[in-house]
Amino acid sequence: MHTTLDPQLKRALAERIRYYNELGIYDFYRRETAESNSQPQTVIPEPLSDTMTTMTSAKRKAAVAIEPEESIFAVGPPRPETGVSDPAQALRLIREDLGECTRCPLHKQGRKQIVFGVGNPTAELMFIGEAPGADEDQQGEPFVGRAGQLLNNMIKAMGLRREDIYIANIIKCRPPGNRTPERDECETCSPFLMRQISAIKPKVLVALGAVAAKTLLAINAPMSEFRGHWYDFRGTKLAVTYHPAFLLRDPRQKKETWKDLQMVMKELGLAVPAKGVE
Ligand code: URA
Repeated sequence: MHTTLDPQLKRALAERIRYYNELGIYDFYRRETAESNSQPQTVIPEPLSDTMTTMTSAKRKAAVAIEPEESIFAVGPPRPETGVSDPAQALRLIREDLGECTRCPLHKQGRKQIVFGVGNPTAELMFIGEAPGADEDQQGEPFVGRAGQLLNNMIKAMGLRREDIYIANIIKCRPPGNRTPERDECETCSPFLMRQISAIKPKVLVALGAVAAKTLLAINAPMSEFRGHWYDFRGTKLAVTYHPAFLLRDPRQKKETWKDLQMVMKELGLAVPAKGVE
């Protein structure tokens, strides 16, 4: 829908969007106000991440992805990867844009390096975890510690190799003491993950654990509700399964995880072997 905006409001909106762009945030949602059913309509741009975690279903319905043709939002520089059709090159540009990131306090809380993501830039399947741990921080690659070994087993059980898929996390820096990422850390960092997803265009996303599921789906629910369903994540199918670190603590849940992975394999057209995750 096209909207006529007061020039002063338009300038203020443009300024706010430019500010978000400088933070590396390019994806916005339009939340309509109570009076937006009457004319003229008011548009409040919010970063995608503002719709996270505690959003009620009513609010979720009201959050509408902004149409690119809404020219008010065509301010500020385009994303560096815009128009780049080679996913590997697009990922390089996103990594460059991220730089030696200091956008959130984690950069001065002991991180050794940024853990951007790893794998096939044209992967059909992408796993998304929570945050790098000590091993990942040390090696600069997601899921290389004990949880990573288990993720490797999950990938192998699916008949795939680690290099076939893409692996990333909601946040790219290790939180001190491996604590759960704070909401503002997820909000600041996840736009880069969104851009990685847009570059790779996987067929299926798998959120590993509740933090990834809550952040991506903007739903606050327990794992028991998240699992066993397909979600539409901006046009890409998304499934949720247990985090490998949780499976290390409770190996009995591997059986359940195998059910989730079988659902994913069917969607990807992969043959489902009888043997599950070990
Ligand atoms: N846990 C995560 O969520 N991600 C990693 O990269 C490693 C452990």
